[in-house]
Amino acid sequence: MIFRQLIDPETSTHTYLLADRNSREAVLIDTVHEQFDRDRTLLRELDLTLRYTLETHLHADHVTASGRFRKELESKVVLGAACGVANADIALRDGDRICFGAHVLVAWPTPGHTCGCITYVCREEGMAFTGDALLIRGCGRTDFQEGNAATLFESVRKKIFSLPDETLLYPGHDYRGRTVTTVGEEKRFNPRLGLGKSEADFVSLMNQLDLAYPKKIDIAVPANRESGLAFSTDLGSIVQERPDAASSVASVMETQGRQDAEVWMGMGI
Ligand code: FE
Repeated sequence: MIFRQLIDPETSTHTYLLADRNSREAVLIDTVHEQFDRDRTLLRELDLTLRYTLETHLHADHVTASGRFRKELESKVVLGAACGVANADIALRDGDRICFGAHVLVAWPTPGHTCGCITYVCREEGMAFTGDALLIRGCGRTDFQEGNAATLFESVRKKIFSLPDETLLYPGHDYRGRTVTTVGEEKRFNPRLGLGKSEADFVSLMNQLDLAYPKKIDIAVPANRESGLAFSTDLGSIVQERPDAASSVASVMETQGRQDAEVWMGMGI
């Protein structure tokens, strides 16, 4: 299988390109509006035909490029059914399969960060794409978009952790330059969801985070309901409206540790 892990530096979002070597059929997981040209160029250079753009969930921190890909390359827009996106071409339910060439991704609903989160599992390659349900040594926040900490705990512990320990897990974001983890690593080292933590610990922690309202949510979520096509506002300008962000994060990191600083920033959105 052809595999590329890409990053949007602005939002620390990972986009994944998967393709079949023989048929040249490809899928993209979690595209970013601002990276449309980058990804379209890569598809062209590798001589790939984009079949599907998959979302792990309805994002609140960035706008998808899925609508632009559908318009230009005739790919299909794919989301979890629970996202409730009317213009999706495919609304995934538990166990639905997305095929490209000889390869298969199976949709596992893993709600809790949002109600519509999907983990895409590629068994034959020993890989899974967890979106924001499980981040490397962390997880997405659970306080908006019908998020629920107890639900997320069950999604991670009963579903994602049911995969073999050596399964490679690719997250929706990473804010420290990391790219991949494994089920076994997260069972041992995830400070929130590792095997030493109880559901009560986790729910209590998540409910005490008292996170700032995500700055981009009021633009990103409605835009993503339209697969990004209605989007015209420059998200970058919104980031610029947070002049104290950098220095404040540095100070939070010093006083409370990096994990809290990430939470303060509203990361894992
Ligand atoms: Fe998210």
